[in-house]
Amino acid sequence: MRRKLAAGNWKMNGTASALSELAELARQLGPDDAETVICPPFTLLFAACEKMRGTAVAIGAQDCHAAPSGAYTGDISAEMIADTGASYVIVGHSERRDAHAETDSDVADKTRAVWRAELTAILCIGESGADREADRTLPIIQEQLTGSVPDGATGTNLVIAYEPVWAIGTGKVPTLSQIVEAHDFIRAQLISRFGKTEGDAIRLLYGGSVKPGNAAEIFTAENVDGALVGGASLKAADFAPIIKALSQA
Ligand code: PEP
Repeated sequence: MRRKLAAGNWKMNGTASALSELAELARQLGPDDAETVICPPFTLLFAACEKMRGTAVAIGAQDCHAAPSGAYTGDISAEMIADTGASYVIVGHSERRDAHAETDSDVADKTRAVWRAELTAILCIGESGADREADRTLPIIQEQLTGSVPDGATGTNLVIAYEPVWAIGTGKVPTLSQIVEAHDFIRAQLISRFGKTEGDAIRLLYGGSVKPGNAAEIFTAENVDGALVGGASLKAADFAPIIKALSQA
């Protein structure tokens, strides 16, 4: 049985006052709820870990550098993230692939760095709108999986987030059958590469305009083990109902 996971990506949002949303979220979660992780900006990691200690909310980062330390001005290593008490790192988000020209090979290097620091990677893949229209969704997903997931992936060190780029922050959501097709395909690829035990244990999140109103339907898909949520994770009032829908799925 894969444990369900709700991951919130705050992107470049939130100053110290936003920590009150974490406290409110923790207050609303019970022992039967899905595993929950919030990925705030780097500036809030230490304080967020401190505030969430002893609660059901884990903390993650949104990116890391591939090297453990060195002359990389402005960058943050996976070891530094581990030092804050965080347990997850998002890698390969489409906004970084796009705005920072990150390649599959960069994402694979960052994933290895996350594992070196004994953290869990939430590795994002997903097709652009043009890929979808050209009927290239599955080949693109296959290429990204091959290029950005390193050897050695397990159900403990890796979570895959399927995020169609055209659905992120747009309010557009794929049909349930499109989500099922992509997730079933990713599951089959992982089993074929990592074997039945690990391939079946790696959790698959759907991401892209998940809201309280559409979450329950998305979570009916067998290979959707949770969600990576951007905008609707910023407020406990929006994220908690999504977590509840996942917990009851
Ligand atoms: C994301 O940032 O990964 C995301 C899915 O954003 P949103 O939920 O706002 O579409």
